[in-house]
Amino acid sequence: MAGRFTSKLLNAPIVFNFKDLILLPGLSRVEPSEIDLRTRFTTNIELNLPFVSSPMDTVTESEMAIALARQGGIGVIHRNCTVEEQVNMVKRVKRSESFIIRDVLTIGPEMTVGDAHRYMREHSISGLPVIDGEGRLLGIITGRDVRFADPSLKIKDAMTKDVITAHEGITPEEAIELMRRHKIEKLPVVDKDGRLTGLITYKDVALRKMYPNAVRDEQGRLRVAAAVSPFNLNRAKKLAKYADALVIDVAHFHNSNVISATKKLVKEVGIDVVIGNLGTREAVLDSVSKIDEVAGLRVGIGSGSVCTTTQITKAGAPTLFAVAQAADALAELGADIPIIADGGIKGPGDIALALALGASSAMMGYVFAACKESPSPMTIIKGTYYKLHRGMGSPEARRKRYALDRYSQPAKGIPEGTEMWVPYKGEVASVVAELAAGLRAAMGYAGAATVREMWEKARVAWVPGSLEGFNRGLKTEF
Ligand code: GDP
Ligand code: 5GP
Repeated sequence: MAGRFTSKLLNAPIVFNFKDLILLPGLSRVEPSEIDLRTRFTTNIELNLPFVSSPMDTVTESEMAIALARQGGIGVIHRNCTVEEQVNMVKRVKRSESFIIRDVLTIGPEMTVGDAHRYMREHSISGLPVIDGEGRLLGIITGRDVRFADPSLKIKDAMTKDVITAHEGITPEEAIELMRRHKIEKLPVVDKDGRLTGLITYKDVALRKMYPNAVRDEQGRLRVAAAVSPFNLNRAKKLAKYADALVIDVAHFHNSNVISATKKLVKEVGIDVVIGNLGTREAVLDSVSKIDEVAGLRVGIGSGSVCTTTQITKAGAPTLFAVAQAADALAELGADIPIIADGGIKGPGDIALALALGASSAMMGYVFAACKESPSPMTIIKGTYYKLHRGMGSPEARRKRYALDRYSQPAKGIPEGTEMWVPYKGEVASVVAELAAGLRAAMGYAGAATVREMWEKARVAWVPGSLEGFNRGLKTEF
């Protein structure tokens, strides 16, 4: 006779993860090259590729975020550092490229050529607009002007006075054309009274051409997200001034304190906030109904490559199961919120499975830690290059956080992460190209031309025998 507890045992659901499923081939009408990988990261942020890098201190700092946004994805800057360090990392991404630079470095007419030379060297730039006390453009001084002039000469006597300028409404194409025609590399932008309002550099416009797939904001700057604790409103507000989105970074979001703190945070920051990590239908129903304007869901608990949560606590919601649960919960609510599959993704097939079950993008730590642009150290073991990947709940990472972020929530007292050496994979550009090609091929088999068609058309099948626990299979490479 099955009593309450025996029933609980016998009715235990089966949950699946990447190792357990395959994508069933379906009728295809498109060639892989025609497959459109565009998707959404949040309700307001579109991506050209469904790839997101994890907020981990061996994965995403400025260099990773810049490289990934240039390719079409987005990076989430980790929070295992001071508020100032994290804000600076975000700013570095935002400053790396722009169409019209707004924080223009300028110089006054009474300064000297020597001052200009020093200033340009310090900031690695090759020219400075010259402005008067009212901000009106008087001229421009460039590398060529300072290199051959007497350092004690006043700027007003060395600068170029008949400056070619642009107006606010100029397009990137018009700017390029103007700079080519006049053989110049800097185009100051002025308002109708001749006041300097911005600067366009040839270098920045050329970068736009070099990365046609880049994910940019309205001002042409690369997009970037930042991780925050729901309990650190101060950090969240500072980051919100620069970042495109915030990602709540807690292991278990379905907790009433976390939910109420996040509800408050969302109201205060005024930018897209992704919540997570979530693992079940109930967690999504509870969270989305209690928080106004959730911009994205980060789902999957305990499946990360360097995660030991499930080994230690036996608690977890495998990423694919969590994705399906979240997608169903959203359908129940009639809510259109993008889902980010997070944890255990090793290659394009895993991403395809996540999309098939309702995800809009895939967050990866393991895959990106292995890239040149990750901040983690590299080592050589028996002639092979490896990079370090470590869990944010690992003893090492936590030691750093205690020292730096006194406001972080006291942790649970047990390590929930470990570290591993992952084989070096080269630059983000080539890793992303490989992921995108593999994903297109997978979608081709599934007969889906878009991410939305993956939700609608792709079918999955269970491969019995592969069900060996969702935290295994860490040794497989793509
Ligand atoms: P060069 O062509 O290598 O000499 O470099 P530029 O001086 O044209 O610019 C180098 C980089 O610095 C570009 O990517 C610009 O975005 C940036 N830059 C140039 N001038 C300014 C400025 O006044 N303010 C800011 N914030 N960035 C600038
Ligand atoms: P990966 O792509 O490496 O398999 O998984 C990355 C994800 O693992 C991260 O985005 C994050 O959600 C999760 N994660 C990172 N560090 C830890 C940790 O120490 N413990 C646990 N449980 N998860 C972690």
